[in-house]
Amino acid sequence: MTIFTQSIWDAVRPHAWKYRTRTEPVTGLIWHSTRGGQGYDGRKELQAALNWFRSPNNRIVQAPFEPFAGISHVTIGPDAIVEVVPIDDFIPAWSSHPSDEHAISIEVAQSNSGQAIEPGTIANCRKFAAWAAAEYRFPLGRLAPAGDDWKWSGELGHEDTVQGKAQGKTDPGLAFWNPYLQLEDEMTKDEIRALIREELRALHIIDSAANPSVSGATLDGLDDFVTRAFTRLQGADVTSVAAIKKVLHPDKPQI
Ligand SMILES: [Zn+2]
Repeated sequence: MTIFTQSIWDAVRPHAWKYRTRTEPVTGLIWHSTRGGQGYDGRKELQAALNWFRSPNNRIVQAPFEPFAGISHVTIGPDAIVEVVPIDDFIPAWSSHPSDEHAISIEVAQSNSGQAIEPGTIANCRKFAAWAAAEYRFPLGRLAPAGDDWKWSGELGHEDTVQGKAQGKTDPGLAFWNPYLQLEDEMTKDEIRALIREELRALHIIDSAANPSVSGATLDGLDDFVTRAFTRLQGADVTSVAAIKKVLHPDKPQI
């Protein structure tokens, strides 16, 4: 399954200065915003960012460094979650070193600092984060500013990294964090419920969400069960899909 609606990797790949080989496991997300500065809406801003990421002119030569580019793993807009550089094998060179080494860097379409970000973009960010946290097994939630860019697991903004602070970065800022974290809270409950249903199917308690009657449970009964399980989960420190599975199957090894 892929979370991406499109990929521009084929256009980026010939430009070797834009990426490097990944050597560290993924432990979190680092959020940026594009801030092209033209006052575009999210759709236009996304296209402008993608054009720049594809462009051979996106090449910074700055001694003593190797040539590099301003780029990301993923770029998100109102209707799109775009793969720029493949997460598993490569890191962008650069978005925020050295967090790039062990994180997924994401550019969110926002033309200017403080500009409101479209709800569709925020929803796509949340969707991507939920997918990535399950796929790579790290907790969601914004961390306190990093003390060491090599060692953190969760979510940070570019503004929160040691590197970002040293460079005076302010992206993505509260225009991202406020709606994003609110949605994270709201959607977690639905996601937990969906996951409980999935776990019940895996345990053969029900054969599908649409047909929960295998064990004689009615839909109401199932909802009761889900509600009770959900209450149990709320008491636990549940910040990731892996943590949820641990609560539901405390004696099962986590993969
Ligand atoms: Zn940034």
